[in-house]
Formats: sequence, structure tokens, C-alpha cells
Amino acid sequence: MFLTISTTGTPERPATDLGYLLHKHPGKAQAFSTSYGTAHVLYPEADEQRCTAALLLEVDAVALVRRGKGKGRGGAPDAALAQYVNDRPYAASSLLAVAIGAVFSSAMRGVCGARPELPAQARPLRVEVPALPARGGPGLVRRLFEPLGWTVTAEPVALDTEFPEWGDSRYVRLVLESESRTVAEALRHLYVLLPVLDDAKHYWVAADEVDKLLRVGEGWLPDHPEQKLITSRYLSRRWSLTREAMARLELVRLAETDDSEVEAIDNAVAAEAEAEEKPTPLAVQRRDAIVAALTEAGAARVLDLGCGEGHLVQTLLKDPRFTEIVGVDVSMRALTIASRRLRLDRMGERQASRVRLFQGSLAYTDGRLKGYDAAVLSEVVEHLDLPRLPALEYAVFGAARPRTVLVTTPNVEYNVRWESLPAGHVRHRDHRFEWTREEFRTWAGAVAERHGYDVRYVAVGPDDPEVGPPTQMAVFTRNTHTNEKEAKAA
Ligand code: SAH
Repeated sequence: MFLTISTTGTPERPATDLGYLLHKHPGKAQAFSTSYGTAHVLYPEADEQRCTAALLLEVDAVALVRRGKGKGRGGAPDAALAQYVNDRPYAASSLLAVAIGAVFSSAMRGVCGARPELPAQARPLRVEVPALPARGGPGLVRRLFEPLGWTVTAEPVALDTEFPEWGDSRYVRLVLESESRTVAEALRHLYVLLPVLDDAKHYWVAADEVDKLLRVGEGWLPDHPEQKLITSRYLSRRWSLTREAMARLELVRLAETDDSEVEAIDNAVAAEAEAEEKPTPLAVQRRDAIVAALTEAGAARVLDLGCGEGHLVQTLLKDPRFTEIVGVDVSMRALTIASRRLRLDRMGERQASRVRLFQGSLAYTDGRLKGYDAAVLSEVVEHLDLPRLPALEYAVFGAARPRTVLVTTPNVEYNVRWESLPAGHVRHRDHRFEWTREEFRTWAGAVAERHGYDVRYVAVGPDDPEVGPPTQMAVFTRNTHTNEKEAKAA
């Protein structure tokens, strides 16, 4: 399966700039291994006037079937055979989108270190996908790409050219042309719309697909007339996920709306999630594990350090055992969203007296963090550069010193179980690192040792016998020995 991207150029803006934009040198053919096979990038032509990059994905059909195992793909009786004998190896599909994401990730983000001015410049572009499975036919192909500024050619591919009476296959030959789009935009459009047209997404839809869709759809999806179809197909008709994505797109569009709308959307999403029988999302399992550990520790006054958009604060507020909840984050934007989520400005006085949000960095000691029963660092440490971690360690365990500290972080070993994650990638692009179970325990054990805490570990999410759970949590308890010393000192 393959696609080509071509551009034309002039002596001032040579076509070979495409190599910079794609971060792939036109002079050499390169190969990248992805979870489904090998992706090749090569340039059939590359001179000042014309340059074409081809992405060719060699699919390992057997690996593909193996990876699909155990994800409840069951289905029709012939599914077993269809798994092996199918169009995956040659038709452009969601796999090609995965390869785009893996091979051209910087290009998709519009980053070009060597020539920072280039990515924002539109240039003549032509994209060709010779065999694109298109459920919905050429008409839908046009409805998806034309609103994005592409001139679309979508020709049905005959089932068999020798027997025209057999009619058309479900494939089209797609050509997109535009003078007004950037390479990053082209890649982002393809990344989302190829699987939408394929509509047979091969891999399990993880909850973070919503984030991915919103990120890649930034700047074009919120205003697309087919937004609903794109969202639901991209998320493989998982309705609660679709609703969440739709709701969040709505949030983006209504950036400055009043809170009742935000609440209405949140409620709709929650109702949808409840109505549907589905595995509990990992984020919810994480909050459940945190609440359980806090309850077990008898904590009433709790810090949520790196509280982000306030989901945990919201959960804690619903439980009267938590009498004081303080959310701290370095990001003003996250705190603004959190305060709208919590409707801080309209809260009754009693509720309001239980909760506070403030801005602060965990890389500095902060007197405001002293005197609490517990501190939670949920999915935060991996957002700090490793050299900053000792500073966080001191601020939390050395200076603030709550009796209980909970730290959760991804278990990188589990990443092979996320079907949608290209091999060797972290789960979130802001993650500076992800630890194995051993690495996490080495860090946590040393922290406990240095600061007089005991530590135990809790698996969050399905504990895979081979690779462990998706999230690992350390529960630190300040040890009695230290407590006594402190009591004496006081
Ligand atoms: N705790 C939330 C959010 C995790 S995302 C959850 O579990 O969902 C990580 C958060 O840590 C982000 O909101 C980010 O702004 C915050 N963060 C990163 N570095 C920080 C620092 N040095 N000080 C405080 N917050 C930080």
C-alpha cells in the first residue's frame, strides 16, 4: 500500500524543500519498522522543479493477525480466513495512517529545525493514493476533502478491467491537489481521513485516540461540515468516545461560552458513558485506585499536585471524607479549565471552602504545600525532564512531607499492548520518559530511603502476566521512625 506526495518548485523555492518538510533526505531510501511491517520512504523524482516522496508500507499480514488476537474481534464465521486473505497488504487504509503518524510525526506537527520558516508556507501539492478503500464512494471522498481546500479526483477502480460488467470495486484512485495547503496539513488530513474512508479500523481504539484526534484535527476538524461522520468513523463507532470527542470539539469552538454549556456537555458525555457497557477507562480506574489508597490512609486534606484539568479534584469533592482539596498546576490554562469544570465561581459556600486551585511549580519548594495529609502526583513525574526530578522529590518528600504520597506513572512495558502505539513511542508527546516497573521501583525505593518513607506498589488496570499493568502506582507512607524524630524535634 502506498501514497505519494509531490510538489513543484522554482529556483527560489526548490521542490526538494519537500525533503526538509518531511524530515527525510531525498537522496536516500529509508526504511522504518512499525508494529505492522516496514515503512519505506523514497523519492522517485527529486529536482528543483519536481519532487515526489513515496511512502510505501510493506505489511506483515501474519503479525497483523497476531496483534489482533484477544481483543474481541470475533465476528462472522469466515473471519478467521478473512484475517489472512484480505486487502490489507495493498490497499491504503488505517495502517497507512499509522505509518504516516510514525514516520512523519515531526512533519505532521509542522516542525522543521533546519528551516523553521518552511512548514507554515503553503506550496503546490499533489497527493496520490492509487488504491483507497472508500466506504461511501467517490461522493464521500469529495465531501471529506473538498471543504479542506483540495481539488479532488476520485475515480472508482473497476473490480476487473476485463469484465467491466462486474462493476466497480470499493476502491478509488484518489488525487488531491492544492496550492493553498501546507505539507503538515496534508499529512494531518490524510492521517484522520484515510481510516475514516477505510472504516474498518484494524486496531483497538484506546481512550487516548480522542486526544489524538483532537490534536491532529486542530485547526480544521472543528469547522468541518462532516465533523460528526469523521469523528464517529475515526473512533470506529464507539459512541461514548465519539460523544466525548464531539463534546470536546464543541468546547474548542465555544472557547468562551458560559459554564452551563460546559456542564451540559460534561453531563451528556457522562450519561453516554454510563449508558454504554464498556470497560472502565484507564483514567477512571486510576482515580478509583487513588481514592481507595487515600481512604485507606485516612487522608482528609489532600493535595493534587499537577492536577491538570481537575478531574481528580472533581472526584474527591464528591466524597465528604475529603475535607480539603487543593489542586496545584504549573499551567494556567489547565487551571482555568479545572475551575470551569468545578464551577468554582458558582459553588455554594460550604463546597467552596473545601477546594482551592493555585498555580505553582513542583520544581521549587513551596510553603503552601505544607501540613497536608496526603499528596497525589497522578501522571505528573513523566512530564518533568529527568534532571528536574530531584527538585520535585525535594519539594514533595523533603519540604512538604505529607504522611502519604501517591505517585502514578505509565508502565512502559505495557506499551506493546496498546495497539495504536507505534513501536518505541511514548503514550503522550509531552512525556519526557516512561519507566519500566523496575526503573520506577528503583526510583521510588531510593526516594523512600532518602526521606524516611515506606513504599508499596499497586497495579492499576489489567495486570498483564508478561508486561504488568498499564499504570503503576507507588504508595509512600512516612515511616514511624521519622514521625517520632519529628515529634521530638517539635
Ligand atoms: N494529574 C492529572 C494531569 C496529568 S498531566 C491527571 O492525572 O490526569 C501532567 C500535569 O502536570 C499537567 O497538567 C502539567 O501542567 C503538570 N505539570 C508539569 N510539570 C509541572 C511542574 N513542574 N509543576 C506543576 N505542574 C506540572
